[in-house]
Amino acid sequence: MITFYPGPSKVYPQVAEYATDAVRQGIVSMNHRSAGFMDIVKETIRLIHEKLDVPADYHVAFVSSATECWEIVAQSLTAEASLHPFSGAFGKKWAEYAYRIKPPMNLSEADVLCLVQNETSNGTQVSEQTMAQFRRDFSGLIAVDAVSSMAGIRFNWDLADVWFASVQKCFGLPAGLAVLIYSPAALERAHSIGENTHYNSLLFIHENFEKFQTPYTPNGLGIYLLMRVLQQIKPIVEIDRMTKKRSSDWYTFFDTRSTGFKLLINDRATRSDTVIAVEGSEPAIKAIKTAAHQAGITLGNGYGDWKNTTFRIANFPAITDEEIEQLKNFLVTWSSGPQD
Ligand SMILES: *Cc1c(COP(=O)(O)O)cnc(C)c1O
Repeated sequence: MITFYPGPSKVYPQVAEYATDAVRQGIVSMNHRSAGFMDIVKETIRLIHEKLDVPADYHVAFVSSATECWEIVAQSLTAEASLHPFSGAFGKKWAEYAYRIKPPMNLSEADVLCLVQNETSNGTQVSEQTMAQFRRDFSGLIAVDAVSSMAGIRFNWDLADVWFASVQKCFGLPAGLAVLIYSPAALERAHSIGENTHYNSLLFIHENFEKFQTPYTPNGLGIYLLMRVLQQIKPIVEIDRMTKKRSSDWYTFFDTRSTGFKLLINDRATRSDTVIAVEGSEPAIKAIKTAAHQAGITLGNGYGDWKNTTFRIANFPAITDEEIEQLKNFLVTWSSGPQD
């Protein structure tokens, strides 16, 4: 079975071997305050900076999910209120989580702008130009959910103060871990707010990570696997080039081949590089997903408002060119055959 599901998604096949190493070498049983474990945390953070080209003064911490990061931004970094210009289901969910913690009483005083760089639900993305415009226009902190694009495309990190992603998308790893990256300005804000009433208050997390420790027993296996995958992958400029070539090929494919489906997003500038959303009638979507499944291919279901009228194709780095070819061949063959 090959999978194009956009999360949980295909893991790098080497992860099986890394997981075996983690058990055989006793890494999963290490005390998380031991020197050996702290070395793994330290090396993983170093590799995040190196492979993803994160500025040296931006801090890195590991938490359990992107959803947790939504709450951390609301509880530890938002003094008054956060703004959430969103275009899909994940952005909407983030706003709902945030407003439960910091009700939107004073939106005119908003001090955090929350953006979903890549909206996994409908295959749209916020371009670097738009991010730069937000940076010029908004004087507060900018927090970015980059769950389905971090480690798939490169970012200009300076355009935001907080970036986070869980690892089950472009990192090609199993779920249960998230990477949280924050700037000196974000840390300064956390200090000025001084929120320290949660196990995952950013100040408490920061204090622990300065010693390469965590407030609670961490997902040690996940951190170890992340370290191994980071050692294995190419620098982000190269991954970025591959991802964009593949996305451009996917968009050309659906624009030029008669597949019986069309792209959900017409505006080229907002089309995602990492999640391709394809639209069709409800029966056609249902039929293609079933036929794909029988051919050993898992397509991503539609999500939220687009649940029954779209399917999604993950364009994540762990997917191989051969797998992409296989899916393209399947789509071409399927559309030229009987479809009832
Ligand atoms: C998958 C996803 C999430 C949720 O990640 P969790 O690890 O389940 O918290 C959040 N935002 C976006 C854009 C996603 O694609």
